[in-house]
Amino acid sequence: MRCQGVYRDSMKDNIGIDVPKPKKKCNDINCAWHGRLPIRGRIFKGIVRSTKAKKTVVVEWEYNRYVHKYERYERCKSRVSAHNPDCMHAREGDRVIIGECRPLSKTKHFVVIAVERNEGNVVKHE
Ligand SMILES: [Zn+2]
Repeated sequence: MRCQGVYRDSMKDNIGIDVPKPKKKCNDINCAWHGRLPIRGRIFKGIVRSTKAKKTVVVEWEYNRYVHKYERYERCKSRVSAHNPDCMHAREGDRVIIGECRPLSKTKHFVVIAVERNEGNVVKHE
């Protein structure tokens, strides 16, 4: 069923992806859970590398790419910027799941949809 009416201040039970629901609420219209931002396209798991920009995080992940000539794998890294709504509040070092969405700015077309908090060493700023 598609929800068409008012869905501000309301939380979706399901965003179409099997990830845990956030405990907090937010009023961000560009939130996958509380706003009007459909997730479609690709899903990635990565680590937050930078939170310097407002409501934005830089997420990085590693993958192996097969190089045919050498019959070996090359280690590659990808970095994208992703929207970080208030209910997620991802911090540096957190493992996050990001989903592709419509372009939110020139370089942002991903949004954080789940956070695994890193309670250990990497968290600074507090
Ligand atoms: Zn939210």
